[in-house]
Amino acid sequence: MTKHVVTLAHYYTQPEIQHMADKVGDSLELSLYAKEAKADIIVFAGVRFMAETAKILNPQATVILPNAGSTCSLVTQTDIKALKNWRESYPDHIHVSYINSSAEHKALSDWIVTSRNVDDIIAHLYAEGKKVIFSPDRNMGGYLNYQYHYDMPLWSAVCEVHDKFNETALNEAFVAINGEKYLIAHPESPLPVLKKADYVGSTSGMLNWIKQFNGNQQAVIFVATEDGILYNMGLARPELDLRQAPIYAGCQCNSCPYMKMNTIEAVKLAQQGQGEPIDYLSATQMDAARLPIERMLKFSERYYA
Ligand code: SF4
Repeated sequence: MTKHVVTLAHYYTQPEIQHMADKVGDSLELSLYAKEAKADIIVFAGVRFMAETAKILNPQATVILPNAGSTCSLVTQTDIKALKNWRESYPDHIHVSYINSSAEHKALSDWIVTSRNVDDIIAHLYAEGKKVIFSPDRNMGGYLNYQYHYDMPLWSAVCEVHDKFNETALNEAFVAINGEKYLIAHPESPLPVLKKADYVGSTSGMLNWIKQFNGNQQAVIFVATEDGILYNMGLARPELDLRQAPIYAGCQCNSCPYMKMNTIEAVKLAQQGQGEPIDYLSATQMDAARLPIERMLKFSERYYA
């Protein structure tokens, strides 16, 4: 019998990979799509933690990661034993974890958040009088503490891509432009960069900001995130001058090496059932990791309905 294959691609993959996908999106959109997908095989052109999330939400499906090396620095910088000790040192706190984390990490969390709903979920917890610890992204947590005057203890890992954006390179790029300029940034970027931004938000949030931009059409818009999304932004608004934020003078070259491991060849093979199957998570591990994800999904359904 022919197997029904669904291919998902994150915005940070190359345009050719996005064209091979049934659904292109950010972490939240792809998680929701994976959960509902009536598929025998889900090919996840993204990174490992995303494929794990798809498997946790749709355990009946065979989930395949095209390249076994597609990890994420937020995962590799987090030692699970140390995380467990850290979590246990705050017994009266709620542990909120960014979705960019391994299944083991999620299982040690009370809530999972994405860059789209993190502000609202943490505000909701504080409104209920809860105390919160946040992991793994110290840039995102630092920004939330700064923006909302929280005092969340933070785990210390970074996205090696977004962490490269820096204030000095941005200042130099800004000075070189006489006309109007804007900066939009992903909250995985360092705080000095986020403080300069006209908009801080998720990948989809930034894409929507560009779609709805009605300012000066001659303005230069710098985008502090992975370069893949520039493709989608350019498709939506080809008339705008969109530039990736620099990481040093003259460089618009900051991309995620793990996302780019999703080559055409690897995705084609995965669609034929080859690649790295996410088959190593036990039912107990998946149940423990599913709980905080489901909490987030339920909140998002209620809050954004
Ligand atoms: S862009 Fe950063 S957060 Fe996203 S997968 Fe790559 S290393 Fe991880």
